[in-house]
Amino acid sequence: MTHRILILGGTTEARQLAGKLAARADCSVMLSLAGRTENPVAQGVPMRTGGFGGADGLAVYLRETGTDLLIDATHPYAARISANAAQAARVAGVPILALRRPGWEPVEGDRWTQVDTFGYAAHALGPAPRHVFLALGRQEVAAFEAAPQHHYLIRSVDPVEPKLAVPDAEYLLARGPFREAEERALLEKHRIDVVVSKNSGGEATYGKIAAARALGIEVVMVRRPALPDVNSAETVEALAAIVDQLGVDHFVRPVDERGV
Ligand code: NAP
Repeated sequence: MTHRILILGGTTEARQLAGKLAARADCSVMLSLAGRTENPVAQGVPMRTGGFGGADGLAVYLRETGTDLLIDATHPYAARISANAAQAARVAGVPILALRRPGWEPVEGDRWTQVDTFGYAAHALGPAPRHVFLALGRQEVAAFEAAPQHHYLIRSVDPVEPKLAVPDAEYLLARGPFREAEERALLEKHRIDVVVSKNSGGEATYGKIAAARALGIEVVMVRRPALPDVNSAETVEALAAIVDQLGVDHFVRPVDERGV
């Protein structure tokens, strides 16, 4: 019997987890992407793209596809889909696990100012003009139009369209991982004096945090949003081990509840 697993992705870990579970003879994996990135990295497993239509739409999808296990492996700042996933799993009676990579903690030498929202981050830059590195998604940078006095260096995977309504902004297109040495060179080249970052966790984007520390540069760190409380693991290996140890059968509901 093949067990159907839906992985909500958009992260490196989701792709790695999908590959790992797809290699099991008893699992059939579907990886779901939101469809935001114009040229997503090849995922190497069966994929679907686009929103489900809220928690209700996702619950219908889970039922219609006879999904046995839902895994939320989305980015820690993708709070809406995580909330939808928890609710849809409850409504459809499908077990859910989450892959939640731990956030970064400040270490000696870090100069972090922690704030709750991107709007507060813009405010925290202060009134005097500064050279600001925004390593944020294109939807998040709009908040900085409220602080047009700064010079911005904006790095994103896809172009920021429309451009920010500020007089002084430079745009860089790049996809991580980014190493500390390269990040340090970038910060120096652009005479950056403050970095605005999400607390994404993981290695791939930590380079700018380490580089800022080495250069004594302030980091305005936007705290993580609240996420639903579901069973979770911190790494791909740990999550795959939960599936292995318990066996996918453990997650499968009785046939009469599945409606398939
Ligand atoms: P979000 O605000 O939590 O979700 C907005 C809507 O996008 C959801 O309600 C859902 O639409 C759809 N959606 C999100 N993730 C999806 C997925 N994996 N499969 C199908 N539909 C999905 O999400 P976001 O912050 O815009 O992030 C979008 C995607 O980019 C996520 O997959 C996330 O893992 C990835 N990502 C996000 C960040 C970040 O910083 N936010 C960084 C790296 C990667 P419906 O309600 O119509 O189902």
